[in-house]
Amino acid sequence: MAEEKPEVGDIVKLTTIKGEVEGRLLESPKTELYLIKLKSGYNIGIKKENVHKIEVVEKFKTEREEYNYEKNPALPNVDIIITGGTISSSLDAKTGAVSNLTKPEQLLKYYPGLFKIANVRKIEVPFMVSSEDMNSEHWIKIAKVVEKSLNDSEVSGVIVTHGTDFLHYTSAALSFFLKDLNKPVVLTYSQRSTDRASSDAALNLECAARMAVSNVAEVMLVGHGSQNDDFCFAHKGTKVRKLHSSRRDAFKSVNASPIAKINSDGKIEYLDEFVRRNEGKVSLDVVFNDKVALVKYYPGMDPEILDYYASRYEGIVLEVGGLGHVAVSGKKSWIAKLKKVIDSGLKVAVCAQTIFGSLNPNVYSNGRTFEKTGAVFCKDMLAETALIKSGWILGHKKWKYEFKDKMLINYAGEISDRIEK
Ligand code: ASP
Repeated sequence: MAEEKPEVGDIVKLTTIKGEVEGRLLESPKTELYLIKLKSGYNIGIKKENVHKIEVVEKFKTEREEYNYEKNPALPNVDIIITGGTISSSLDAKTGAVSNLTKPEQLLKYYPGLFKIANVRKIEVPFMVSSEDMNSEHWIKIAKVVEKSLNDSEVSGVIVTHGTDFLHYTSAALSFFLKDLNKPVVLTYSQRSTDRASSDAALNLECAARMAVSNVAEVMLVGHGSQNDDFCFAHKGTKVRKLHSSRRDAFKSVNASPIAKINSDGKIEYLDEFVRRNEGKVSLDVVFNDKVALVKYYPGMDPEILDYYASRYEGIVLEVGGLGHVAVSGKKSWIAKLKKVIDSGLKVAVCAQTIFGSLNPNVYSNGRTFEKTGAVFCKDMLAETALIKSGWILGHKKWKYEFKDKMLINYAGEISDRIEK
């Protein structure tokens, strides 16, 4: 253990009258206290008079060193787009809170492994927000920046770093907005901030870089495939969902196989078909109608709610039960109201709230009665993907009368034909 003077930001070990405490030393508001951020994330104050000894376990990685980076002419180039979220934040040793890294260089300094795979030609920061603060304007902005990079002959692929919570909405949006993709577009994230020893950011970024220089011209979401630092998966942008609030392997492919498994030693195993890198130019189809909403049906839900949506929205995605069911009889039947709002122009797309599996209205008569209202049964499409797709379709004014046909066209692998029924 180093014999150094503890400074704010260092990991320290305190020997107190009650035992040992290890954590990060924060700037304390009171001189008589040591303020410590524990591994659990909680902060505790310990009276200095109760501490026999304080030792430095690990010095805080400061931002003071100069960023000194020379491109390796033997490596392909990638562009990185930083949009916010945990992956672009680090601990503020003064407050113990996590704050955004505002200079891209600060972020890149943490990841030497990335530079062994590719040169970072350019870093763009179109905005810095958590994914819960995003909306269609952010998705459109990202798509525009990505398109510019992809059509630059110097660039092999693009990496987008992003918050986790709503990352699968952005991956779906890019999948529809970028037409005739020519190169890889890889979204990645971290569940633990960069300054934490347990951060998943380094492996995620390295795997993202490997896919960004690969042959796969798809929008992919790349991240931990297990709880360890042993491999990542590259998921298809339209078939992936955050399925855990805190685990590193929070994202899973749903009703599809991941495109690839990327081992930490760099070996890539391809698990599914993919569109290949090509010489074409990608183009933008960035339109979005925000008048779409995602609504979850529950038993006993009052169908009157549909009047509200019909008066304010142009389309809704309804998450419904099982193979495709809502109440069809009794006081709370949805059938008459659904018919009325659909006839009056509200577009209704239907997805399974089971997440896994496909809708099939033909198994039960209730499903058939529901489908006859004119609602569009979206097979195994994820509800989040269907929401983005409906906003995109309704953004095309000329498609107004083709909603059903367009919803059922498989534009970006969002419908799987081969899933287990
Ligand atoms: N709430 C954050 C976000 O989604 C969490 C994260 O960065 O992972 O942006």
